[in-house]
Amino acid sequence: NVFKKGLKKTKTALFRSFETVFSSVDKWDESTYRQLESALISADLGVSVTQKIIADIKESYSLGEIKTSEDIINIATTRINAILSSDNRPLNENPTGPTVLLMVGVNGAGKTTTTGKLAYKLKQDGKSVLLAACDTFRAAATEQLKHWGERIDVPVIAGKHGSDAAAIAYDACASAKAKDVDYLIIDTAGRQHTRQDLMQELPKILRVIRKNFPEAPHETILVVDGSTGTNALFQAREFGKACDVTSLAVTKLDGSGKGGVVVAIKDEHTFPIHFVGLGESPEDLQPFDPVLYAEAIFS
Ligand code: GDP
Repeated sequence: NVFKKGLKKTKTALFRSFETVFSSVDKWDESTYRQLESALISADLGVSVTQKIIADIKESYSLGEIKTSEDIINIATTRINAILSSDNRPLNENPTGPTVLLMVGVNGAGKTTTTGKLAYKLKQDGKSVLLAACDTFRAAATEQLKHWGERIDVPVIAGKHGSDAAAIAYDACASAKAKDVDYLIIDTAGRQHTRQDLMQELPKILRVIRKNFPEAPHETILVVDGSTGTNALFQAREFGKACDVTSLAVTKLDGSGKGGVVVAIKDEHTFPIHFVGLGESPEDLQPFDPVLYAEAIFS
């Protein structure tokens, strides 16, 4: 299970808390539930998921089904599994031309790195890929993406720092057509709600893409930094409102201890989680597997 290493800290913390609660109660009462609640909240599962798990535990307890801490773990795993397994679908593909993937997220979330890792993954699957460096706002982003391109041998369309992102998107679409690539992945600048110019840039990029490929983007992938825990949940909420997010990639879950946030996000949103980032190397982007993920949180 590839997620086990990344979720080790989350698992250890939860496991310990459950064991402590279980071994220290003589009488099972409201304070027991409060302790369980705080263990689940501190694993970044969020209020809503925590309440659902607590309700499940209460029901099982009333039926006399809870004998060991293992029983609590099984109840929580079942609920998490149900949340993670709903509304999943594979990444959309365009059968008649390039599949256009638009990467969005705040600065530092891991957009550029995920763009590189995703390109590598698609290439490994035998697809041809073109990258567009439309993050012209962050000084190093273009260089970073070019570097990824060299490293994984994938072409990158880029402009100079500060040049018009929509113009680069235009060039990238033309090149995607000329090269007849399977995938065009567009890295965009980190959204900042305080920067009107940046907020207006995305609609401009979208107009250019749609002029070339009317159905595009086939996915708008929101990249959030999982190691920020509930802040990632907040970002998903904000972006869900601001643009038409269709897919999610959660990064930096390697050893963060905040893996529960994936469940909190999934519980709140209907967009599928497609990828999980477990490191900085090309092969460290994992397709999201709900069953393995739920299992890794507890065992
Ligand atoms: P952007 O501003 O959203 O494009 O963010 P970057 O792609 O530049 O990523 C910010 C930092 O996070 C970089 O140092 C990346 O190497 C690092 N990073 C991105 N994804 C992961 C991940 O899954 N795990 C770890 N450990 N680091 C990551």
